[in-house]
Amino acid sequence: MKLFDSHAHLQDNRIYNNYTALLERAQMCGVSRILCCGSNEEDWEIVAGLYKKYPDCIIPAFGVHPFYVHSLSKNWFETLNNLFTLYPDAAVGEIGLDKLVKDSGYQRQPDVFRRQMEYAVSHNRPVSLHCRNAWCDVADILSVTGVPECGGVVHSWSGSAEMVHVMIKHNLSISFSGSITNDNNRKGRRSLLEVPPEKLLVESDAPDIPPSQRNFPNEPSYLVDTIKKIAELRMVSEEEIAEQTFNNASRIFCSRI
Ligand SMILES: [Zn+2]
Repeated sequence: MKLFDSHAHLQDNRIYNNYTALLERAQMCGVSRILCCGSNEEDWEIVAGLYKKYPDCIIPAFGVHPFYVHSLSKNWFETLNNLFTLYPDAAVGEIGLDKLVKDSGYQRQPDVFRRQMEYAVSHNRPVSLHCRNAWCDVADILSVTGVPECGGVVHSWSGSAEMVHVMIKHNLSISFSGSITNDNNRKGRRSLLEVPPEKLLVESDAPDIPPSQRNFPNEPSYLVDTIKKIAELRMVSEEEIAEQTFNNASRIFCSRI
C-alpha cells in the first residue's frame, strides 16, 4: 500500500531530532509522500531544508498557523512571498482560524488568514486549512476570497457532518487524523460517512493526535491505524482507502510536480 500523509509537522522539535529514523519507519509502512506544514516564520526554513533533503517524499507548505499570529514580524508577508517564489511546488499552509486558542487572541486571525488565502487563490497554490470552532468565519472568508482552482484541504476534521458539504462546495477536501480512531468521536464518524471518495484525505498531524493505540509523539508511520479504522467505518478495504486518499492528495498537492 502506498500512503500519502496529507498533514505533518516534521520540523516540530518534539520529532525533528529523530527525523531520519522516523522517515525510514514511514517508508517501511508505505508512507511515500508527506505534506510537511510550516506554522510560523521560525520553522519555514526548516521545512524547506527537509524538502531539499527528501524532494521525492516531502511536499513543503508555508503559512502562518492561527496559534502564531500574535508573534508575527512586520515583514512576515514579504518573507512568505519570497519563499513561494523560491519553491514553486510549495502549498499554502497551515493557515486558518482557531477560537479555542487562549493566549494568542482571535482578533488578528481573520486578516492574516484572508491575506494568505488571497495569495493562494491568485497564484493557484493548494491550501491546508486549520479550523476549530470558527466554521462560520472560515466559510465567510472563503466566500469572499474563493478557493484556489487546484483546491485544498481542511485538515484534521472536527466540524459537523453538515459543514462537510459546505466545505466541499468551496472546492475543499476533508482530511481525517488519528482522532477518528477514538471510539468516542461520534461527530467525526458521522462526518466521515458524508465525505465522497474523491474528497477524502488522511493525515498523521504528527507529532500531535496519535491514533488511540499509540503514544506521543505521533509519527507518519502510525497512519496505518487511521487507514484501517476509516476502512472499517466506511466498510471498504484498507487498500481502497489508501489508493483513494493517495490519489486525491496527489491531485491537490503534486499537480505542479
Ligand atoms: Zn497541523
